[in-house]
Amino acid sequence: MTGILIRRAEVDGHIVDVRIRGEIVTESGELRPEPTEAVLDALGGALLPGLHDHHLHLMSLAAAAGSVRCGPPEVSGLDELARALHAASGSWVRGIGYHERVAGVLDRHMLDQLVPDRPVRVQHRGGALWTLNTRALTELGLLAEHDDGQLWRADGLLHERMGKQAPPDLAAAGRRLLSLGITGVTDATPNLSPEAVALLTGSGLPQRLQLLGVPTDTRLPDGVTLGPHKILPPDHEPPRWDALHAEITRAHAAGRAVAIHAVTRESLIVALAVLREVGTVSGDRIEHAAVVAADALPLLAEVGPVVVTQPGFVAERGPEYRADIPEAEHGDLYRYASLLAAGVSVAPSSDAPFASEDPWRILAAAATRELGQDERVSPRRVLDGLLAPLTAPAGPPRRVAAGAPADLCLLTVPLAEALAAPDAGLVMTTVCRGKVCDQALVE
Ligand SMILES: [Zn+2]
Repeated sequence: MTGILIRRAEVDGHIVDVRIRGEIVTESGELRPEPTEAVLDALGGALLPGLHDHHLHLMSLAAAAGSVRCGPPEVSGLDELARALHAASGSWVRGIGYHERVAGVLDRHMLDQLVPDRPVRVQHRGGALWTLNTRALTELGLLAEHDDGQLWRADGLLHERMGKQAPPDLAAAGRRLLSLGITGVTDATPNLSPEAVALLTGSGLPQRLQLLGVPTDTRLPDGVTLGPHKILPPDHEPPRWDALHAEITRAHAAGRAVAIHAVTRESLIVALAVLREVGTVSGDRIEHAAVVAADALPLLAEVGPVVVTQPGFVAERGPEYRADIPEAEHGDLYRYASLLAAGVSVAPSSDAPFASEDPWRILAAAATRELGQDERVSPRRVLDGLLAPLTAPAGPPRRVAAGAPADLCLLTVPLAEALAAPDAGLVMTTVCRGKVCDQALVE
């Protein structure tokens, strides 16, 4: 076989045949099959460029596959938490997604009561806090310094102490993303260790990859690009002006944009004020912008970073937001429509595994959100964002055309039908770098 012919696909509203050679789309139109090429009949289904997730965490996503869900909606009380932890297989128990609504603030002693005889670590839903039981702390030699069992922003330390464990299965995570139509991702994890970079770039992950958390001078293999420099200010306090100023200035001087994590209204204002003083460069991003006060919109538009948002959070965390956040502020959460209306560039993403990695759920969530209904955005608009290049997440969508990379997502139905009821089950197959991920579909 010398290539692939996808027949009778809907591309930009027209039914055409699309030819792939190597990793490139070479032709589209009415094409005659060549004897040496494999043929895939689309039966009128939409052929899109492969989807891009502009902000997720691959190592955590891969690790999540072997983890126990410890928060809503699966677990909503202490009994359910105990059951979930006990049901876990393996010598170590890894829990994820914990929220105080389950049983208050978690500490070592609570975990000991639930699981005394096996090492347990449970990650808070926000991602920054791990709580360990006594067995886990003892095995890792951390009991003396962490008496309450709580380790903040300690992924590096945990990774180092747990080093003997098998690394998470990135290839499996990549296959899961392919099944959703995703052919490119931006990993937004800050300060990736050299071991993590080696795994991410050498593990057979099929997707194209952009990394934010690597030093500017990192040499990356083909198909992996250096993204903006991720800046993660400390939790629970607005970023310090001087530190932020110095870090942005340094990145820009090295010719690199920045991606600043901002989840509170205060941290967003400080980030924007510093960015305005330093001067924005093309590619600068704000990650999350989880809470944007209405009066911050003009400043956001003036300073001009791309906001990389996560519509899935509003859908998945609605009950907690309703309980924890005053109603008057519900419209400030993960704004989308009002950002676009104010002239702010917006890119959609998942933040998986902290929200679902399913882009079709993101489309549905953005269009049907209950909290802040004025922020609803059409599935087509969000899809365009998921089709934008990794390097220009708020740029125009990529297209299926001769000369484009053969990164494609083929649906079982025309696009209008998929947008009316977005569902990952509509993905017939995904082509990534010219390879069909489910070879069984090709004649
Ligand atoms: Zn994130």
